[in-house]
Amino acid sequence: MRYVSTRGGMAPATFSDILLGGLAPDGGLTVPEVYPAVTSSELARWRGSSYPELAFAILRKFADDIPAADLRALIDRAYTVEAFRTEAITPVTPLIDDVWLLKLSNGPTLAFKDIALQLLGNLFEYALLKTGGHLNILGATSGDTGSSAEYAMRGKRGIRVFMLSPHGKMSRFQTAQMFSLQDPNIFNIAVRGVFDDCQDIVKAVSGDAEFKARYAIGTVNSINWARVAAQIVYYFKGWLAVTTRDDQEVSFAVPSGNFGNICAGYIARRMGLPIRRLILATNENDVLDEFFRTGVYRVRKTAQVAHTSSPSMDISKASNFERFIFDMVGRDPAVVRALWREVDTRGCFDLSGTDAFRAVAQSGFVSGSSNHRNRMAVIRWVHQESGIVIDTHTADGVKVGLEYREAGVPLLCLETALPVKFEESIVEALGRPPERPAGYEKLETLPQRFKVMDTEVAAIKAYIARHAS
Ligand SMILES: *Cc1c(COP(=O)(O)O)cnc(C)c1O
Repeated sequence: MRYVSTRGGMAPATFSDILLGGLAPDGGLTVPEVYPAVTSSELARWRGSSYPELAFAILRKFADDIPAADLRALIDRAYTVEAFRTEAITPVTPLIDDVWLLKLSNGPTLAFKDIALQLLGNLFEYALLKTGGHLNILGATSGDTGSSAEYAMRGKRGIRVFMLSPHGKMSRFQTAQMFSLQDPNIFNIAVRGVFDDCQDIVKAVSGDAEFKARYAIGTVNSINWARVAAQIVYYFKGWLAVTTRDDQEVSFAVPSGNFGNICAGYIARRMGLPIRRLILATNENDVLDEFFRTGVYRVRKTAQVAHTSSPSMDISKASNFERFIFDMVGRDPAVVRALWREVDTRGCFDLSGTDAFRAVAQSGFVSGSSNHRNRMAVIRWVHQESGIVIDTHTADGVKVGLEYREAGVPLLCLETALPVKFEESIVEALGRPPERPAGYEKLETLPQRFKVMDTEVAAIKAYIARHAS
């Protein structure tokens, strides 16, 4: 398996070559040269597989330059009952007739990002041990991503994490989740500012090429290919859980922000998994819903991004979207370059009436959006019908999923976080807080370890330089 860039300017590379990187050197995203096919006899064989067995069978197709025994060991260490509190890793629960919840939030930070990042932590450590290198991961977070990255990288040899968050602006639960980590390789920096200030600092530090090279600064953002690859697995797992025939179609409803999660579903479909529809749900920040309805991809300015009660989907642009568009324009890097030049200059591109948009219509995608009132209503309705409490992001997915439900086609709604992470919204919807999973009861009372700093790039650089590995 070799990887190329969506912008055409990268020599074909192996999985290990692109593992630690973010953007390709030409500014594009890395994608497999061809998607591996899955045969129906393979699907049949996987019916009895455990999650780690299935993950290995799928990921070895993408990471074929890692010795099989090593890959298997890295996977086995990531997907454990200890980390995910369930043997199934991503269990499926019925919601109402033939509508299912694919539960992706049983990892250490109670959100679906753990599924990819727990494996990524092992892959990064493995790669660095092989080369004798080290890595200082720098990131900005307003919640889910940062804690997921920290729990994935804690205690990993050769890796340190510097995570910037807006001081006093995250929920108490999310703050406690991150700041209670006592591992010496994790550095929480609470910045006196808002999330955008944190992101600007990360950009400024990463933009200093000399500093970046000197301190081996890296990221774990959602465009990392290995994250997408790891997410492909649970689409297969979900399909296997609700079907009995090897050609039986199912649909998936996916709450989307950066198009990372659903991009994995799209690739699963391209590999041959019988997926009928990929139902993309946005919240009020409907960049992607607008595209799938009209063909116009129009990124928003930071000031136009609404702060919603499903905050992990509050995006101005969908960073993984270029992977999908690359396929829709017949994998022509010149077209992709031209489209993203338009995004840079005009803030949008328009595919309506083109062959590319006709290809989009054939790709299985449909879309819709949701708002705060919808979320509250869906949380109440699901609770009434099934007794299950879902979080606000999952509610966006269920809302749009039900709009596209078809008789005879099982609908799997992806649960992307546990409700306890968004307690205030659950109290608003149901009049009481959600249950806490065992082990999280006293999270907010644990001792916290963090450094408060001003929005000063120079001071933060100096802090990183002092503590870098
Ligand atoms: C990150 C996140 C999403 C959005 O996923 P994308 O891969 O960015 O589309 C949805 N829900 C939750 C809870 C998240 O943390």
